[in-house]
Amino acid sequence: MSAVYRVDLDAFARNLRRVREAVAPAAHMLVVKDDAYAHGLEAVVRRAWDEGVRWFGAFDVVTGAAVRAVAGPDARIFVWLIDGSDDLAAGVAADLDLGIGDEALLEDLAGLSAGRPARIHLKIDTGLHRNGIRPERWDAALSRTAELVDGGRAMFEGVWSHISEASDADDDDARALFLEARAAAREAGLVARFSHLAASAAGFARGEFREDLVRVGAFSYGIRPAGGPGEAELGIEPIACLAATVTTIDPRGVHLDVGSLHGLPSTLAGRFDVVTPEGPRRVEQIGATSCVLAPWNDAAVGDEIIVFGRGGFFSATDLAELIDTIGEEIALRVSPSIPRSYRS
Ligand SMILES: *Cc1c(COP(=O)(O)O)cnc(C)c1O
Repeated sequence: MSAVYRVDLDAFARNLRRVREAVAPAAHMLVVKDDAYAHGLEAVVRRAWDEGVRWFGAFDVVTGAAVRAVAGPDARIFVWLIDGSDDLAAGVAADLDLGIGDEALLEDLAGLSAGRPARIHLKIDTGLHRNGIRPERWDAALSRTAELVDGGRAMFEGVWSHISEASDADDDDARALFLEARAAAREAGLVARFSHLAASAAGFARGEFREDLVRVGAFSYGIRPAGGPGEAELGIEPIACLAATVTTIDPRGVHLDVGSLHGLPSTLAGRFDVVTPEGPRRVEQIGATSCVLAPWNDAAVGDEIIVFGRGGFFSATDLAELIDTIGEEIALRVSPSIPRSYRS
């Protein structure tokens, strides 16, 4: 295997500064789910902490605990997939900020043997129906939460939701529900220290969605939205490239040992160019474990090729657009079997 997924941590740091400036005065919660969008959790969290990021969005408790191990005791680490009582207990033990989108978890919390109070952020379902407390159950959830707070079992840290960012009108409707839910919480004596509902797109484009925290994943890694504004307009840059060296040259062309099993969708064959020492060359075939490039004079085994991403002709989102998907999908497909390397 000659391929490597090369992550430029200085470029990442520039994106972090850009995100911070774009969402200010809200704070940036760096979303690091899916192994930091496949860039490698540990290196990403370590650099982000050094750059002043203090909130991390970790998805599940296991990932949250991994972030805790890297970022130390002062990081705030938000998780929103909590699978029952044991998982909840582990989240409390790791001092995570727990996104509660299911009333059953409030009962689980009541049943935990007393330890430190859990930091909780109640999630109102504002229309995505992924998880979240339905508006008609919100008051009941608030009463239960108030009991847990009074009993010293929970600290009420936030109200949150997740929006589709598919259309401004849908997002506006979601925000109206969100604001109502927050007002109801306040009336119930539960004052959210942190409100949050936006991710990359709304966090950049729509000031009224920023609230206290903006949960930004994609843009932090320089992944622009498919069909949306470009990197230059957003002020971000791709931070990673897939690089590989030429393994063989034969009459069919120049071969690399990356293929669909490593994350290069075979439907991209014939549709994009890579960087070679002689300039752009088309990827003509994509097999399971190798691909074939159009030849060039003096091609040599060991020549370095930038397949996509930073320094390449196509970004993850450029490739995604060719096959009607999103940049995250291309980034997340880069196989864990390809080693990550870090430059800074
Ligand atoms: C993935 C995710 C985000 C980050 O979304 P991006 O578009 O990558 O910024 C934010 N919040 C939640 C709940 C998520 O699942």
